[in-house]
Amino acid sequence: MFLSDRHKAIANGIAKVFPECYHGICIYHLEKNLKQRRVRNTVLNLFQSAARVYLQSEFDDFMSQIAVVDKKTFIYLMEEPPGRWARSHCPRRRYDMLTTNIVESMNNVLRRARELPLLTMMDFIQEKLQSWFYERRTTAEGIFREISNWAEATLEEKIKPAFTFRVLPIDRLKFNVKEGGMEFIVDLDKRICDCCQFQLDEIPCEHAITAIDSIYQKNLAFLLCLLFKGLLVDNI
Ligand SMILES: [Zn+2]
Repeated sequence: MFLSDRHKAIANGIAKVFPECYHGICIYHLEKNLKQRRVRNTVLNLFQSAARVYLQSEFDDFMSQIAVVDKKTFIYLMEEPPGRWARSHCPRRRYDMLTTNIVESMNNVLRRARELPLLTMMDFIQEKLQSWFYERRTTAEGIFREISNWAEATLEEKIKPAFTFRVLPIDRLKFNVKEGGMEFIVDLDKRICDCCQFQLDEIPCEHAITAIDSIYQKNLAFLLCLLFKGLLVDNI
């Protein structure tokens, strides 16, 4: 999977060399294009929401709001297939990669080094990457849980609201989770939920956490570890 701005040369190159690969558009760059077209902030916010939501129905809702307030921007956005920029329409898993920010950060780090002679610049890049890999490897070696610090923090954010939902079991691994006026079917066996976050991010959504908790209330963290290791189904 490739993610880039809309530069024609990049699209042509990827299509030629990696024709089977998905080529998505960075929504940060797409938003920049909209700003150059002097699109209003309210429409930019609607665009950000449309690009980030998980369900196609939510995408349609935000896009129809854009169509009402700014038809020209709606047409401009839809000229690019939503599968290339909207998470809800992406044919491949994008996880949470909607922008090329990580590459832009790298560009920023290398900005000054680009002025150096070629071999000195290569040395600089090699040393930089080596020190980053060393730091990350050392951090990873100090983690004795099954999931990374990032995944744990992400889960913790989801755990609190999850306990306000109601859950009704359908069968051993299928649950109906009620959140306000909405209902979501969670299938722990297939690791999917109607909200689509579970299958697209591959991290249990709030509904899946509620379902897991309804099985083993006492040790949620343990269960989440099992789920990540793919052992949950075998252990129930
Ligand atoms: Zn869900």
